[in-house]
Amino acid sequence: MPIQVLSTHMASKIAAGEVVERPSSVVKELIENSIDAGSTSITIDVVDGGIGSISVVDNGVGIPPNEAALAFRRFATSKISNDDDLESVRTLGFRGEALPSIAAVAQVNLLTRDSANIAGLFVEVEEGQIVKTSTSASPIGTSVAVRHLFHKVPARLKFLSTPSSEGNKIQSVIRQIAMSFPSVRFTLIMDGKKTFSTSGTGGLRSVCSDIYGHNTAKSFIEIEQDIPEFTTDNKIIVHGLISPPDISRSNRSYIHIMVNNRTIQNRSLSFAVEEAYHGFLKERRHPLAVINIDISPQDIDINVHPAKMEVRFLREREVFSVVQKAVRHSLLAFAQLPIIGSAPYLDRVDAGSNFWKRTVISNPQQPISIFSNTVFEDKRYTPKAAVSSMVVIGQSHKVYIVADGPEGLFFVDQHAAHERVLYEKICKAILNGDVHVQGLLNPVIVEIPPHLMDSLLEHGVDWDKAGFTLDHFGGNSYVLRSVPVHLNNLDPGKAFMEILEEIGFGGNYFEWQEKLTKSLACHSAVRSGDIMDRTEMENLLTSLEGCDQPNTCPHGRPTMIQISSKYFEKEFGRI
Ligand code: ADP
Ligand code: MG
Repeated sequence: MPIQVLSTHMASKIAAGEVVERPSSVVKELIENSIDAGSTSITIDVVDGGIGSISVVDNGVGIPPNEAALAFRRFATSKISNDDDLESVRTLGFRGEALPSIAAVAQVNLLTRDSANIAGLFVEVEEGQIVKTSTSASPIGTSVAVRHLFHKVPARLKFLSTPSSEGNKIQSVIRQIAMSFPSVRFTLIMDGKKTFSTSGTGGLRSVCSDIYGHNTAKSFIEIEQDIPEFTTDNKIIVHGLISPPDISRSNRSYIHIMVNNRTIQNRSLSFAVEEAYHGFLKERRHPLAVINIDISPQDIDINVHPAKMEVRFLREREVFSVVQKAVRHSLLAFAQLPIIGSAPYLDRVDAGSNFWKRTVISNPQQPISIFSNTVFEDKRYTPKAAVSSMVVIGQSHKVYIVADGPEGLFFVDQHAAHERVLYEKICKAILNGDVHVQGLLNPVIVEIPPHLMDSLLEHGVDWDKAGFTLDHFGGNSYVLRSVPVHLNNLDPGKAFMEILEEIGFGGNYFEWQEKLTKSLACHSAVRSGDIMDRTEMENLLTSLEGCDQPNTCPHGRPTMIQISSKYFEKEFGRI
């Protein structure tokens, strides 16, 4: 076949593939147009997961009748007109591709009216061609109806999932956009049933409440960026809500990143959020977060991909660091204790892979009455605030320190709390090179099994730094001459071997060091089963109060929980 320029029809069909991948991409583009048009209320109605039909109705400014046909031409847009505009895009759309792309692969009806006209204009488009226009009664705003999506593109149609799975993708798109625009009211109707809505009157927390449930949303921590180092003129502002350490999920899909209110996918920023939770969550648990990065449009490039899901940052490292520090700072300052008696307990159960399904009570045997519909408005505490108001009552099961406080009882896991205290102490000591060591009167010879040799030698010198003095004795044998002072009442050889076994090998220097520190803290800490006297308990609490991150042990388990006095009152029938 000779080289030839494709017809406009073919060219649009090919280009459409990049913008319109599936029903949810149609929904996304149409909603974005509605938002760009200043709508405050957007109703989305889909049938059969959008494969049947999609309609988006808004109350935005509408399209002037003489421009409506133009909206379906490729690269026709009212949002930018020159290079400068492209550099400073604040609207969600700007490529002038969505409507023509959708119209190239589906049948589209548009009804629109702007405030300058008393009647609206109806436009019917088939295979990219306008087949009918007529005046028609219409409120101010625009409605777009899309039918027969991909009917003429069998290859695409084949790749669609089931209606219910396409429907889930649509819900997910809408919820994401709703989080970016809390002041817009969204209503989603699926197969005739209202499945999701936001009020459009509240802030982000109110939208999160519509998505995750009232109690979870209530416990989210607001990101506060009041950090001296950021008040410089870097103009990167981070807003949003993040989950407290006791609410987490088993996958990363609950981290939502927005840039200037546009939802984007960016692995490194999701990672920045996860990093900020270091030590707050157990392994393989992930936070929930909705984070909007406000940044000058000149500092980003959103014109990377037709679906506009990617953004390039001029100063990516700086953005990464601001996000990470803002999240970390907010967690350290505001993360509260887990509480029993408040309904977040119900929501803490993992929703599994089904992103939006409401959470369920983990234990069906649990008497519902305990949690009935009452929502306790408990006063919650950060660990520091809690400790400063606690009075130790005693020890329970040789595991927990029980303390009284103004809003209920506090249970402190003695091992977890002591681990946290020692972990921070050891980290600092290693950093400053002043680990206290205890020379062994009788040096111990340790036989290192071959599978642990690597782990011993990998970062050889650093055993010293951590307080272990080892001399090679020949073959696999080493002489252990000193151990860190915290380990002094354990069998030194045994403790050393356990630690070696625990840290294993591999990982980079920092991971190795961290594992060593955690293991040391764990071995040195008071154990469950150890009896503690009052002074010991009080001292432990005071030390915990002085920690940077007292909420959790270094492995991410909580150090303490609160049982609210409201909970007792309710169970005893006092309220
Ligand atoms: P873009 O959004 O990139 O400009 P689109 O193809 O999505 O391109 O839309 C083309 C134009 O049609 C927009 O620039 C806008 O002027 C107009 N338009 C589309 N949808 C709406 C709407 N819901 N309300 C008002 N104007 C709209
Ligand atoms: Mg658009």
